[in-house]
Amino acid sequence: MSNLKLCQGPSCHTYNTKDRLKGTKPNKTFQTRRRSHMYYGNGNFCDMRCQNDWINKNIEHALNHFGRTTEPKHLTEDNAWIKDYDYRGGWSDENRTYVYRNAVTKEQRPLTEQQYNDDSYTLNTP
Ligand SMILES: [Zn+2]
Repeated sequence: MSNLKLCQGPSCHTYNTKDRLKGTKPNKTFQTRRRSHMYYGNGNFCDMRCQNDWINKNIEHALNHFGRTTEPKHLTEDNAWIKDYDYRGGWSDENRTYVYRNAVTKEQRPLTEQQYNDDSYTLNTP
């Protein structure tokens, strides 16, 4: 029980589904969902509705806290690198050829699988 995560949706307990009804009679209540694994919002929400509830409640605060985009961003050759792979290898991961493709210049550079999977590896300048 202790390794179950609670859904972070602020209204999760208000949705009357059978699986949320917990406890023993006569003290059963609708409760926030608990799961060992959740698929929404980086594993924090039981479903899309709970994720949207959280976003709707917190979006203004979050944008003010983390900083709003106040000017349009521009796609230039310095920040247009996109990780991609060649699909000719079929469905298998083993035969994939990974490439770094520049969306502005169309230049391609080789990329290793490790670099492809490494979120901190980039050729883009901020
Ligand atoms: Zn939920």
